[in-house]
Amino acid sequence: MANQVTAPKGTKDIMPAEAGRWQHVEGIARELLRTYRYDEIRTPVFESTDLFQRGIGENTDIVGKEMYTFLGKGEDASSFTLRPENTAGVVRAYVQHKLYTLPAPQKLWYIGPMFRYEKPQAGRQRQFHQLGVEVMGSASPRWDAEVIVVATDFLARLGLPALEVQLNSVGDENCRPAYREHLQAYLRGHQDELCENCRTRTENNPLRVLDCKVPKCQPVIQAAPTITANLCEGCRDHQAEVEGYLAAVGVTFKRNDRLVRGLDYYTRTVFEIVSGDLGAQNTVCAGGRYNGLVEELGGPATPAVGWGLGLERLLMLLPADAVPAPGLIALIMGVGNAAERQAFQLAHELRRQGLAVDLSNGGKMDKQFKQAERLGARYAVILGEDELAKGVAQVKDLAARAQQTVPLSDVKDALMGAVAGGKQS
Ligand code: ATP
Ligand code: MG
Repeated sequence: MANQVTAPKGTKDIMPAEAGRWQHVEGIARELLRTYRYDEIRTPVFESTDLFQRGIGENTDIVGKEMYTFLGKGEDASSFTLRPENTAGVVRAYVQHKLYTLPAPQKLWYIGPMFRYEKPQAGRQRQFHQLGVEVMGSASPRWDAEVIVVATDFLARLGLPALEVQLNSVGDENCRPAYREHLQAYLRGHQDELCENCRTRTENNPLRVLDCKVPKCQPVIQAAPTITANLCEGCRDHQAEVEGYLAAVGVTFKRNDRLVRGLDYYTRTVFEIVSGDLGAQNTVCAGGRYNGLVEELGGPATPAVGWGLGLERLLMLLPADAVPAPGLIALIMGVGNAAERQAFQLAHELRRQGLAVDLSNGGKMDKQFKQAERLGARYAVILGEDELAKGVAQVKDLAARAQQTVPLSDVKDALMGAVAGGKQS
């Protein structure tokens, strides 16, 4: 045999046995987002590299070292990048298609694969999937609260174990520059106590130091001046409003005045939803407000707020029995050539009626019943030479082990009656 080709490191096949869990999660998301009036947006999985450099920021881990970047071809030989996140792409589309001319806010959601060159480990892949929402065109704190509530509703509807919402404000263009300098001055005084990354961050992205997980850096981080203590009045009011809305619908949260996000574009509200059950990669959902990004990407000044949620991490938390097994109502067994054709027709007819049925793979009867059991079918429908001659079928309830003879034209009623919980004759 030739050498086998395997999936690239850091990627995972979602196999048929797991696909039901993904569909379950996606179905609940779609239904919930419909009730909140969010519209889906689908953008390309690759974009001009420039979009991420400008939209995410040069001094972030993502742009600095995690992007899959390649050259286009022919007349389009410029630089492209597989999307590492989707806010930049959504904002690009929002500007390109002038969604800002439509009534605000535009409430958008997306789902799809993202790509980051990282060291693969539990809950960290090179191709992973995010569900995300973005509310574009309003600065009102009600939307900061709403996007958080969408996320907590979604997680609650999935029946996930206790998750904690952590909330902070990172300030805005009024108060952050002064805080940034204040923090930078403090960090410059503690360079020996910081890891190499944080020494670099001190100069180009000092807020990111607060996000460092290296044990050595923790004492310096703990004693650092907080943005919370340095917010301007507008930011303080905004934060109080967000908290008030959350309280109004009973969403609990914890203030974390050291919470910052890795990306440069956040203003005011930032939040994460974390789980105690995920080990090191414990953030399931992360987001915040980004009032400067649309303008940064060439659109008119447009406030916005949103989040991205890692679906692999969410699925790690979803209990194995959270998802109902796909239901097969009947396995249709044709015994003999003519009966097999009849079975094929019957299966086709039942499927047109919306019933989930499959055709047996043939062979000895006991093998066919084993197949029915393995597929979780409720009924076996048996068509042999005798049945064919009389225009009937045997419908066997596999759990009750009861069998009845039914005219062919009544098979679907027998199965459908059973589906609706009706009783058998
Ligand atoms: P982390 O601190 O875990 O690296 P991040 O700040 O890079 O997270 P975001 O860019 O905010 O993450 O992405 C939002 C969510 O997407 C994360 O909270 C996480 O659930 C998920 N996520 C991010 N990177 C990965 C990855 N490489 N593999 C799987 N999920 C990921
Ligand atoms: Mg990361």
